[in-house]
Amino acid sequence: MMSLRLPSIDGLLRHPACLPLAERHGRDSLLAGLRQLLDELRSAVLSGQLSAVEISPEVLAGRVGERLARQQRSNVRRVFNLTGTVLHTNLGRALLPDEAIDAVQMAARYPLNLEFDLASGKRGDRDDLIEGLIRELTGAEAVTVVNNNAAAVLLTLNSLGARKEGIISRGELIEIGGAFRIPDIMARAGVRLHEVGTTNRTHARDYEAAISPRSGLIMRVHASNYSIEGFTARVPTAELAELAHRHGLPLLEDLGSGSLLDLTRWGLPAEPTVRQALLDGADIVTFSGDKLLGGPQAGLIVGRKELIAKIKKNPLKRALRVDKLTLAALEAVLGLYRDPDRLAERLPSLRLLTRPQADIFAQASRLQPALADVLGETWNVSAVHALGMIGSGSQPVARLPSAALCLRPQVSKRLRGRCLLTLEAALRALPIPVLGRIDDDALWLDLRQLDDEPAWLAQLPHLQVDS
Ligand SMILES: *Cc1c(COP(=O)(O)O)cnc(C)c1O
Repeated sequence: MMSLRLPSIDGLLRHPACLPLAERHGRDSLLAGLRQLLDELRSAVLSGQLSAVEISPEVLAGRVGERLARQQRSNVRRVFNLTGTVLHTNLGRALLPDEAIDAVQMAARYPLNLEFDLASGKRGDRDDLIEGLIRELTGAEAVTVVNNNAAAVLLTLNSLGARKEGIISRGELIEIGGAFRIPDIMARAGVRLHEVGTTNRTHARDYEAAISPRSGLIMRVHASNYSIEGFTARVPTAELAELAHRHGLPLLEDLGSGSLLDLTRWGLPAEPTVRQALLDGADIVTFSGDKLLGGPQAGLIVGRKELIAKIKKNPLKRALRVDKLTLAALEAVLGLYRDPDRLAERLPSLRLLTRPQADIFAQASRLQPALADVLGETWNVSAVHALGMIGSGSQPVARLPSAALCLRPQVSKRLRGRCLLTLEAALRALPIPVLGRIDDDALWLDLRQLDDEPAWLAQLPHLQVDS
């Protein structure tokens, strides 16, 4: 039998099937793609494993075209977050309102007064762009903004407590996802950790006994992603502030998510507000921009004027500062807070968090037939009530009444686990990946965050589950 031969690179480059590829991706990319493919096929051709059709210019062009298209797709991709966790750290947390998206576009496209005072014509300070709004919304004397709340905590500790002791309750030495642990951050900030009390109970006398000439500050951290219940004691902020001030020490409060408004007015679980922490006497309060605030990733540091001035003088501030896109988005989001009555319509995170369960359930019922149809006999698809959560360390035990499509494999118990993982992977492989959660032998798609129903439905026919 005569062995087949691969077409030549030159021949392929001139072949009509390849011309549109050169046009779309550029000649260099096409050449590299063809070389790579032919190298991979060479040994298979020599050993007679491929047919003449499989190495025809048309088929080869098709394969290279697919590869080039895949390479061109960006790594940053939109997904459907149907996990039930609204502010999902791994999925980018808060979604920005149109007002913020417009502001980001403007800041990206044109020069702007980032550090330029238009009134005087002199050099300005980027914090000035949002200071007025944050003071108005929190009652703080002064403000500075950094890259995220972890940076806010690091910078504050280092500016106010380096080479001194930071006093903190053992119940607040927390770890927040990944590598953010309060004791480690303190050490990196150059603050010596002085832990007081016990995991479940810390009293004013514990703090009092720890104070010495070596003390630099007292710190309080919102428990965020865990909750202490049962036999517990915690000193109220107002009492702790009074104690700190009696000894000439500042009180820092890391609120984590924090909130600018009382969320109970929208029926959500109570979360401490920044204004209240300051009213209670905290000297500095730090919180995230992309958690309950609903804005871009940022860390906000608010509080007493002379302390903020000290923080801003720290050379680390320059290393941790925010860029113009963040500031533009943050100002636009904060602006919406001036009209709390309309906030739940205009701020996506709040709109999603307050979406009524009946509304979500109606959506689940509406979409159930289409999904059941695509999945076929193997799967039982039902619209059910479900419980979601806020996420990002806000209210770890509180649950949001929601609704979901619950997908149960109709196979023997032995095969269920694999079946669920296969479907999960198929949903992830869709043009806009769909992310749900596996629990109780079922795959749950919580629909609280399914805004773009047409796009979700349109890609269902692409779902490939061979079970
Ligand atoms: C989330 C959180 C942080 C970290 O905030 P990032 O914005 O993720 O950097 C720090 N402290 C507390 C208490 C938190 O909840």
